[in-house]
Amino acid sequence: MFRIGNGIDFHKLIHEPFRPLMLAGVEVKSEYAFLGHSDADVILHAVSDAILGALSLGDIGQHFPDTDPSIKNMDSSVITKKCISLITERGWKLVNVDCTYVGDLPKINPIRSELIQSLANILSLPLDCVSIKATTSEGMGALGRSEGVMVMATVLLEKSSKK
Ligand SMILES: [Zn+2]
Repeated sequence: MFRIGNGIDFHKLIHEPFRPLMLAGVEVKSEYAFLGHSDADVILHAVSDAILGALSLGDIGQHFPDTDPSIKNMDSSVITKKCISLITERGWKLVNVDCTYVGDLPKINPIRSELIQSLANILSLPLDCVSIKATTSEGMGALGRSEGVMVMATVLLEKSSKK
């Protein structure tokens, strides 16, 4: 028994040297940051939404509304770990995660292995079950003008043998 889920998230990029730029739980050195109510970790949000999708449990906006003052500047790994606990509670197990990042800034290549390591750690998955790919929109539209980034994530769940 398997289940698949996909998630997509966008965040606006702002010039803000004093706000940390968070990606997959890693604080990336940059003069830019993502705008958002929580820490705006676009990779963790897309992965969390994909997990909720696989479980048919709505989206992260329902579970973590951006009107909730308690999640202001919140570490998004808390959101992702909550989604992982929902997988376990319902008798499923996460198999693998594949993410595609679309954007020009920040560049993913130089930090890819650090991001994968961090995401694998948050998801309690082996490294070879976590993928982060990157592409650009070839200069087209808002993403091409580096006004923000988009991440798509796909997750696979399988029925846990423990339940
Ligand atoms: Zn988000």
